[in-house]
Amino acid sequence: MRCITLLLAAALTGCSSPLQRFEFTRLCMGVQTRIVLFAPEKEPAEAAAAQAFERLDQLDAIMSDYRRGSELNRLSDAAGAGPVPVSPELCEVLSAAQEVSLASGGAFDVTVGPAVALWRQSRRTGALPDEESLARARALIGWERLSVKSRERTASLKTPGMRLDLGGIAKGYAAERAVQSLKGRGVDRCLVSLAGDVFAGDPPPHERGWRVEVRGEQGSGPEGVLLVANEAVSTSGDTEQFVEIGGNRYSHILDPRTGLGIGARRSVTVVAPRGDWTDALATAACVLAPGSLPALLAQFPGSAAITQERTDAGTVIRTEIDPDHHLRWVARPAVAPAAGSR
Ligand code: ADP
Ligand code: MG
Repeated sequence: MRCITLLLAAALTGCSSPLQRFEFTRLCMGVQTRIVLFAPEKEPAEAAAAQAFERLDQLDAIMSDYRRGSELNRLSDAAGAGPVPVSPELCEVLSAAQEVSLASGGAFDVTVGPAVALWRQSRRTGALPDEESLARARALIGWERLSVKSRERTASLKTPGMRLDLGGIAKGYAAERAVQSLKGRGVDRCLVSLAGDVFAGDPPPHERGWRVEVRGEQGSGPEGVLLVANEAVSTSGDTEQFVEIGGNRYSHILDPRTGLGIGARRSVTVVAPRGDWTDALATAACVLAPGSLPALLAQFPGSAAITQERTDAGTVIRTEIDPDHHLRWVARPAVAPAAGSR
């Protein structure tokens, strides 16, 4: 009996050992990546974070368009040569990309690769691409010519020269997979962010969610702080990456119809249950006219968005699309423009 009592006491102590907060940062997929988690001790916290970072590296090796031998580049290299077997991860992210392409009328399109290459060149040279190169790139863009077969787990690009770019969806997908990896080790209270793509797991102890800051359009100050749990938050916009040519600003988000960076000064934050959705939807929403956003979000259950658009006159127009009253604001406007999330 005494033995049982002791065991019970030990078990109770074990359960109630307080959780501590740990934070790890590293570069992953070319951006500053942060893992915040709660664990009873340092060792299991470090081991779980190391495994999650490893998972992110694996996904980068699959999805990067910068790494020559990535699975994505091998698929692009085979454009015009028929179906290629793909990993479950690539298949999943390409299927999600196609879903958002269809729903957005092609505003989101992972076949923008050739135009992204021209944009990167413009960024280096400070000159717009010549009309001929642009026309050639435009002719190679078209999500309808990407075929993804989930059952067979194959994908193919129909026209030789087509190239895929997952820059608008891979980070959101990866953040969610990293949280899944942490949860797989019993670390349920966690958050992973890759620059503007965040996935939150279970909330910190005694709290209802993680605080994620919604940044304001450049120069307008922070917009507010959202409380999130077991969902994704992605922000896209022209605030950090753009080229200025001939007095015009071109974002790194391209309009697939023109092949050029969009000129609108938009910043969009999307909240949804899936990281690939939020990442892709936030990118799509920067291309689309704000008026078409409610119809787009209606096709993705549990999604909501906050948009900010700077007009030519310099004023910022803010809209909130939250059909299910899903957004939980804890501070609006936010008090501190700190680290992005706690
Ligand atoms: P960030 O890279 O800042 O996270 P986004 O998620 O909006 O921002 O992704 C932008 C990237 O997505 C670009 O750098 C490019 O690689 C790719 N991209 C640009 N335009 C589009 C588009 N219309 N559809 C899909 N991907 C795009
Ligand atoms: Mg995106």
